[in-house]
Amino acid sequence: MSTINGKIGVTTENIFPVIKKFLYSDHEIFLREIVANAVDATQKLKAIAGKGEFKGELGELKIYVESDEKANTLSITDRGIGMSAEEIDKYINQIAFSSAGEFLEKYKDQLDSIIGHFGLGFYSAFMVSKKVEIESLSYREGEKGVRWSCDGSPEYTMTEIDRKERGTKITLYLDDDSKEFSQKGKIDELLSKYCKFMPIPIVHGKKQEWKDGKYVDSKEENIINHIEPLWVKTPAEIKDEEYLEFYRNLYPMKEEPLFWIHLNVDYPFNLTGILYFPKISDRMEIAKNRIQLYCNQMFVTDSMENIMPDFLTLLYGVIDSPDIPLNVSRSYLQSDANVKKISTYVTKKVADRLEEISKKNKEEFEKKWDNLKLFIEYGMLTDEKFCERALKFALFKTTDGKFVGYEDYRKLIESEQTDKNKKVVYLYATDAVAQYPFIEQAKNRGYQVLLFDCQLDAHFVNLLETKLKDSRFARVDSDSTEALIPKKEISKPTLKEGVERDLESAFVSVLPKEASFNLTAENLGENEAPIIITQNEFMRRYRQMSQLGGGMNFYGEMPESYTLKFNCDNPLSKAVLESFEKETASIAEDIKNREKETRDALGKIEKELEGKKDEEITSEQKKEKEDLNKTLSDLRKERKEMAEKFAADNTLIHQLCDLALLSNNLLKGKALNDFIQRSYKLIKK
Ligand code: ADP
Repeated sequence: MSTINGKIGVTTENIFPVIKKFLYSDHEIFLREIVANAVDATQKLKAIAGKGEFKGELGELKIYVESDEKANTLSITDRGIGMSAEEIDKYINQIAFSSAGEFLEKYKDQLDSIIGHFGLGFYSAFMVSKKVEIESLSYREGEKGVRWSCDGSPEYTMTEIDRKERGTKITLYLDDDSKEFSQKGKIDELLSKYCKFMPIPIVHGKKQEWKDGKYVDSKEENIINHIEPLWVKTPAEIKDEEYLEFYRNLYPMKEEPLFWIHLNVDYPFNLTGILYFPKISDRMEIAKNRIQLYCNQMFVTDSMENIMPDFLTLLYGVIDSPDIPLNVSRSYLQSDANVKKISTYVTKKVADRLEEISKKNKEEFEKKWDNLKLFIEYGMLTDEKFCERALKFALFKTTDGKFVGYEDYRKLIESEQTDKNKKVVYLYATDAVAQYPFIEQAKNRGYQVLLFDCQLDAHFVNLLETKLKDSRFARVDSDSTEALIPKKEISKPTLKEGVERDLESAFVSVLPKEASFNLTAENLGENEAPIIITQNEFMRRYRQMSQLGGGMNFYGEMPESYTLKFNCDNPLSKAVLESFEKETASIAEDIKNREKETRDALGKIEKELEGKKDEEITSEQKKEKEDLNKTLSDLRKERKEMAEKFAADNTLIHQLCDLALLSNNLLKGKALNDFIQRSYKLIKK
């Protein structure tokens, strides 16, 4: 064969500028593509030899990557099947380049989302090269060596050469702006990223050794990959230490994982892999996208978005599957039948494993729960199927630090904590220290209190209410202990007319102005505190969720609102009530009388005007009615002022309010200091 000059048959007139422009961000991918071809060619030869169709010497089947910084070249050499001139013409000139054209045509709108996950094969070499050369000798007997060369225009030359070594050498004459790819360090980095687990040994230079005060090449070849990574081995043959070792290798800076799962399916799709559960304790630590996706030991991506359910991307490890389509856009992946099957399978396996550990090794599971909880709750919140499974193994943690499964916990609290509507009330605290007084009160009454101190818990509580039948969740400080789990109707105290509102005026006047408070008088028993500040369960949840971005912004923007429970049974509240009634008796009486007079007069005039049309009412009558209404509102104001005046210097009211605020961690700044000073004075007395 003499030299042939030819034109590559691409559909796009000049494809190379297009490749370079589109693929700008992911140039480095070329190395993976060329090495993967070398791996393929080597494996094909092994397969042919295995069938007895190749009789020659296989020799050592390694792939050599050689970077030459001076010449600005990079070459990849394999000892695989090689290519004849006809094959180069067929596979490179016709197929590789026409598929490049088709590819660009088809995906030109979504290239950005594809590149990086899908390689472009041989011609991606042109992303970084001004010239690419192939020298090859086919494994078939009697074949001649061939050199193909192309300088980045659609023209190529092909010449017969005298080549002794079977296999293919691809030489890249790098572009001036791609010089980095002839640097040893850069190639080391890329090989480690993309080729670390490829199944044929890849040699890059020599191992380094320390000699005469510097590093020099040793005689030993530097093999950069593990040809049999842990996930391809049989689980039964692997020791725990090997799993840990592999993990450390992948994530050198990470803490040991909690446990792992070895995945291994070959029907109805192919998938192997090892998933690790990392310790998730700190909020800042949540890192997604630590799973690496491989396709037959070739690294594809570490972004599992749209391939795995979101919560599984919190896991670490490796998944290897040739059945995840890579040459499609990310958004399309979600609807792919194989991807759906795979993600269902992995979800199920993860649930199986967790259930197994929770049963077989209860103690270990409990010990690790704190670090596992966020993962499981996130999964339950976002994945219906996982949730159904997790209800069986998820644990509650109580404020006493005990761990109990959902079913057992229900049995534990059912008798004491069922309310009059037959709902089992799950009490919880979000902060065992801040809510200590409420937790103690509840415990004294024989209740159990759960600890829900995770950032997802506001949402999680809502989920549990829908999943656990006849249940209600209440934070310990959302009501007085008595009312948290009402066993019967609680009787309302009988106070003189208007007194409940007077008390509200009195107490609210000494409470912080940033929040809003409503007072209700209740009979809570003499053992409960005189004043209890509570926050309505649902109001608080809405607020919390809107702050977490749940969308209900109306609640998020409202000031905090609390209920002030005035316990009429407590001797201290009784004392407040008595002194109030005594001190304000005569003014209250006077206001009441005037109020009655005004109401009578108003009643009279309203009767006169009954049924009359607006134009039949005289302006005097209108004015009289207006005046009476104004008098009424003035009287109300007077009554409010009376109550506020009573509260202003009333040490007992101040002290009771502050103690209630203190129980809720709401006493701060000046108010706290005032309380301290007042308390000193009281002790001195
Ligand atoms: P793909 O590998 O996806 O088929 P490529 O463009 O990378 O596409 O390669 C086209 C074809 O060229 C391959 O299918 C193979 O037949 C041939 N080829 C590429 N590299 C080699 C090699 N190192 N040894 C033998 N054949 C090769």
